[in-house]
Amino acid sequence: MTYLLRKPDFSAKLKILGEVARFDVCGFPSIFARKEKKFQRFKFIYPAVGRSGSCVRLFKVLQSNACEGNCFYCANRKDRDFPRVNFSPQELAKLFIQYYEKRLVDGLFLSSAIHNSARQSEEKMLQTVQLLRYKYGYRGYIHYKILPGTDNSLIEAAARLVDRLSINLEAPDEKYLAQLSPSKKFVPELLDGLEKIARINQEKPLKAGLTTQLVVGASQETDREILSFSNKLYRNYKLWRVYYSAFMPILDTPLEGLPPCSPLREYRLYQADFLLKGYGFTPEELPFEKNGNLPQKYDPKLAWALKHPGNFPLEVNKADFAQLLRVPGIGRISARRIVEARTREKFTRLEQLRKTGAVVGRARNFLTLAGKFYPAPKEKIAGRVSEQLFLWEEL
Ligand code: SF4
Repeated sequence: MTYLLRKPDFSAKLKILGEVARFDVCGFPSIFARKEKKFQRFKFIYPAVGRSGSCVRLFKVLQSNACEGNCFYCANRKDRDFPRVNFSPQELAKLFIQYYEKRLVDGLFLSSAIHNSARQSEEKMLQTVQLLRYKYGYRGYIHYKILPGTDNSLIEAAARLVDRLSINLEAPDEKYLAQLSPSKKFVPELLDGLEKIARINQEKPLKAGLTTQLVVGASQETDREILSFSNKLYRNYKLWRVYYSAFMPILDTPLEGLPPCSPLREYRLYQADFLLKGYGFTPEELPFEKNGNLPQKYDPKLAWALKHPGNFPLEVNKADFAQLLRVPGIGRISARRIVEARTREKFTRLEQLRKTGAVVGRARNFLTLAGKFYPAPKEKIAGRVSEQLFLWEEL
């Protein structure tokens, strides 16, 4: 049952529309985001990663949570008994600017449920953005969500005003989407929508590109299927990022009885995704287990290295950039620094390796320095999740 709240004030609306916006992912993997205590004062302010790798605060909100859709996992689904509220474009633009001027946020993430129709909802969002750009002179970051079935003219108008466009594909193929969203059509609505925004981005690149989101763990999709699909999206549509959203069951939805997806699974997907995007791995090379999922115990690069002992140890003074990138504990920045430093000096001590930013406790197990091997005690190889390379910084 859907009912609209009568005359809710701004803060009541923001509480509801900011809270439900959390299901749209645009920032840190949830395993880290929960630890970002400084962002917990306001539920609608979320940490995200800026272009330079710095942390930015996004004002993340829905224009409306009254939806015509009935997706099985979603808090906003039509059949769910929940208060429905809408921001008018004027209200939302004014509210955002107040937070921005008080320096409480750095940018806007704007999405909406499908209120009456995709066209009507998208028109309201567009008006909000127009007010921000033209009336308030706001020049900062805007991430803008395209709803399934939106007209070309509205997409093109939004693309002229925002930094990033995204459309949520939700699942890696049609059969998994059917387990999540009975009314969404995978090819004619979602993939075609992505194709439209990819064409616009190709003609006139958006400052912060295109992204999408996949829900993980609510259907029987495997990590292999998810990552093979992401790889195609990166190749075919030049996506900036695929976000992975670990499924969380919500009361009073058809999927309320399903177990939640582990945040560690979500995090491993991000790590493997980085291997595809920035480390030269192909989906076939990723170290999937027999069930098609990534191992949870080790991060994917370490798991790959442990499965390929014949490739190691590498001599740090001779390995090329691509080989160094495959060494656990060495990221793109440290690999580049090693290659540069080798033109001036020979690596003979672990201390030199440490200065490049490599995680020496891990990398030393896979390298020799001038022919000498300095392995760490075996129990230290895996390390804790929080000690692993934070790959977000590097792209
Ligand atoms: S269309 Fe979007 S907001 Fe509406 S129920 Fe589906 S996922 Fe939720």
